Amino acid sequence: MSGHGQGALTTFIRMQGCNLRCDYCDSKFTWGTKNGDDWVNYIPKEIMAKVEEYGNENVTITGGEPLMQMGGFKSLVNRLWDNDYNISVETNGTIPIPDDVINKVRSWVMDCKFIPTLSLKQKDIRNKNFVKSLTNTDYIKCVVKNRQEFDVAMEIKKYVVEEGNIYNNRPKFCISAMYGKVTPKRLIEWMLELTSREKHNLYLNTQLHKYIWKSTERRR
Ligand code: SF4
Repeated sequence: MSGHGQGALTTFIRMQGCNLRCDYCDSKFTWGTKNGDDWVNYIPKEIMAKVEEYGNENVTITGGEPLMQMGGFKSLVNRLWDNDYNISVETNGTIPIPDDVINKVRSWVMDCKFIPTLSLKQKDIRNKNFVKSLTNTDYIKCVVKNRQEFDVAMEIKKYVVEEGNIYNNRPKFCISAMYGKVTPKRLIEWMLELTSREKHNLYLNTQLHKYIWKSTERRR
């Protein structure tokens, strides 16, 4: 899911380091922050040169957790903004969005994490605080692998999206099928069981890259 919508060609910038350790993480190579790990140290100017080389109008900044490198992150967003790129940012929602770049990002995509060590209430509070910053150009995404997680995702949607002062300007809520664990067809079946209110502003999302490329073919 990129904030530009699925199917749009997008240049991905993956930033190193993460403050979470989700057991199902498929990007564990982003966790390390020491030289010698499997990553390259670029300054924002060098990243811009790469972005121009790829020639896509859309750019997604992801991680790891990109907001952990706040200085470099803001510098990069400012450069992309100055050069008229459509920017989306994928984040785990644990670090507040900085005010000075919030409106330079076309879409913030907050990935809800099912972390066993956090209670649902803790997850909700964390998510709700972050979600206050989001508007109807932004997305909240939950990747689920079974019915239990689907039901939790719908509870989160109810708590953070459907209630309170964000109701009239709420972000889109996306449910994504964890590849190899549950099919998009099954997710659609569960979505069809929902009430009208629950279905509202709800979108199916797929881990498209996993359907297109085998794991050995995928670039990180
Ligand atoms: S937040 Fe994302 S990158 Fe970090 S551990 Fe969880 S799944 Fe992996």
